[in-house]
Amino acid sequence: MTNSLRSHSVLNPTPCSPGSDLEYVVCDYCGTDRTRRLATLPPVGALPLPMHRLGASVLRLGKERIHFCQCQRCGLVYMNPRLTEAAIARFYDTVYGTQGASEGFESDQRARAVYLLDVATRLLADDPDGETALFAGPRPQVLDIGCGAGQLLQEAQRRGWEVRGTELSQVAAQHASQLLGVPIHCGDFRELRLPAGSLDLVVMQAVVEHLRAPIDFLRDSAALLRPGGVLFFSVPNVASAEHRLARLLRQPWRGFIIEHLYYFTPAFLRRLADDLGLEIAFMSSWNPLSRWPNPWRDLRRAGQRAPAGESRSAPATPIPPFAGARDPLAKRALRQATNYLFDVVSKVSEGRRGGASTSGNVLFVWARKPR
Ligand SMILES: [Zn+2]
Repeated sequence: MTNSLRSHSVLNPTPCSPGSDLEYVVCDYCGTDRTRRLATLPPVGALPLPMHRLGASVLRLGKERIHFCQCQRCGLVYMNPRLTEAAIARFYDTVYGTQGASEGFESDQRARAVYLLDVATRLLADDPDGETALFAGPRPQVLDIGCGAGQLLQEAQRRGWEVRGTELSQVAAQHASQLLGVPIHCGDFRELRLPAGSLDLVVMQAVVEHLRAPIDFLRDSAALLRPGGVLFFSVPNVASAEHRLARLLRQPWRGFIIEHLYYFTPAFLRRLADDLGLEIAFMSSWNPLSRWPNPWRDLRRAGQRAPAGESRSAPATPIPPFAGARDPLAKRALRQATNYLFDVVSKVSEGRRGGASTSGNVLFVWARKPR
């Protein structure tokens, strides 16, 4: 089903230097390499999140710096040079092999599952012809790509939906499988070979920005929808109020992180949806990044054991201390003041989940296959 001809970013990546974990790529959407640089990732020791310093400490980056660039032709924003496929695997093995690395995420997930399914139900029932909406099967069919521990699918099951899920983490896939009583595929959803047009709803939360070839992935997932079917995904929003402020102040935007290879704008997504044969029902946004760690707390933690909630078992690789803690007082104060300012802007610009503000740091995109 994959149309690899369109997957520009994985066709011919150029290694940065022999033995390096970085590669240069072209735009995944339009295939050109004319970009403007928006930001540069801090050196490994200066990454604010302990789990990112931990993951990046096992990478061979050499003197090369990681940049975030915007395609001048189509507007897609991507990491370039970026981590190779092998380096990404090593990064995740190190971070998520550390027990409890993603704690505190689950209660959030449950509330979001209720919200997502409420909106999806409304969109699926919204038939312009006034006819009764017909599901792809006897019951509504949902596929959650990157289903984690299965919270969204559990809520869908409770509502009588037929559920399918995929998950790259074997531990999470097993957990979800037990929770739901259905097999959860550990791997790419395309390996399931689901028939085109067989699903009512496809969900991808915090997935697309991690992918090496996101355009193909979106195209292939859209093909699974029946006419009137709904695709939901979330992506980092490079047109957010906070990112604009960061550029104005010439400060780093906390949205650019080592885990995310791609960043989007509402304008780009509208064009992309058009190209994929989808219509955007609506977009909204929110700001999970307002809980960004406090650099002062990081200073106190330097040299101590990994903080609770980030790691319970001692990782085989020690977490490098936060290098920014040694910056001059003025620089640390400016960083802290900027973080507070970002928090305020985030709070003010945060779209209500059902609303239509797209100035938050994460975009929620609801797209539909025309009937
Ligand atoms: Zn492009």
